[in-house]
Amino acid sequence: MSAILRPDEGSPEPRRLVPLLLDWFVKDARDLPWRRALDPYAIWVSEVMLQQTQVKTVLPFWERWMRELPDIAAAAGAHPEQLHKLWEGLGYYTRVRNLQKAAQQIMQHHGGRFPESFDDILALPGIGRYTAGAISSIAFNRPTPIVDGNVVRVLTRLFGIGGDPGEKRISDRLWQIAETLVLDASRCSGRARACSHLNQSLMELGALVCTPQAPLCFSCPVKAYCAALQEDRVALLPNLPKRAKPTVLHFAAFAAEWDGKWLVRQRPSGGVNAHLWEFPNVEIPAGMDPASAATSALGFSPETLRPLCRISHAITRYRITLTVFACDTTQSPEAGFGQGLWLTGGELQALSFPSAHKKILKQLPESGSARFFET
Ligand code: SF4
Repeated sequence: MSAILRPDEGSPEPRRLVPLLLDWFVKDARDLPWRRALDPYAIWVSEVMLQQTQVKTVLPFWERWMRELPDIAAAAGAHPEQLHKLWEGLGYYTRVRNLQKAAQQIMQHHGGRFPESFDDILALPGIGRYTAGAISSIAFNRPTPIVDGNVVRVLTRLFGIGGDPGEKRISDRLWQIAETLVLDASRCSGRARACSHLNQSLMELGALVCTPQAPLCFSCPVKAYCAALQEDRVALLPNLPKRAKPTVLHFAAFAAEWDGKWLVRQRPSGGVNAHLWEFPNVEIPAGMDPASAATSALGFSPETLRPLCRISHAITRYRITLTVFACDTTQSPEAGFGQGLWLTGGELQALSFPSAHKKILKQLPESGSARFFET
């Protein structure tokens, strides 16, 4: 039977893992465009986009971003509307605002060059321990550990760690193991970019092989050392707490048309989807009729009201159903209407909308004959 790894007990076994992980990464990792770059800016942008978002979703966004804002100076000086448009569809828009704040700090305090020290990277807005470790190791090949969801899964299984990874004691242990592994990689002679490759191998193994459901243990490069596999506990790890039941919310939104223009509003700063644009909407408590909801959301009573579509989406722990109505008014918008702008379809295309409202935009009726749809 293979030895079960106990790096915290001083076992030499992690040194056996590192070459296996490095070999596997060089041979089997995906060829992703940011992996071909050594530019810390390109790597930073990819890491921020990849938070909460899958690689295949990020790819076109990253390519478009790098074409339009190819360096730190361009990101620092971009108009916020351009930044939001480039991020439109990725969600979690605080990320892009922090990215620009950090780019501006780099211009101000680091002469426009991405800082190399881990502490300087960690001090930038929107960058936590994981992202700082990822940039420092991938861009500068420093032995800085990383632990994200994929790495938690790989390490808890590999080392047979049964506690809740959210607990500080377990989290500290995972970071300590990740540090042992990347330090061992830094001491491997004859290996190019060993720290970068070691950290990326853990992330990649979690994404491709050591997956949440049905992991491909038969093709895992470190299966001979995996405690969970030996103890038949793969399905039990990581030991994550049960998620709270999602909260269900119902909203009504209104695509109000006047003279070929549509009413939209910009969300206030400081909240969810800050600065993005949306169609007037309101949460509808049980029993609220669409006409009252329309008056409440729009600030006036439209002359016609007809169902346009229903959109279901999820944000963090909320499951939201948005019922959308098309409505018309023949009154002049200057006549005391609610706040917002009346814009043509072409003008709306230039603005940034959260995903649910982008779907409304795509379905705006060109005439009164639009068919109801659900998504
Ligand atoms: S053997 Fe299976 S459970 Fe263990 S690390 Fe590899 S893929 Fe994950």
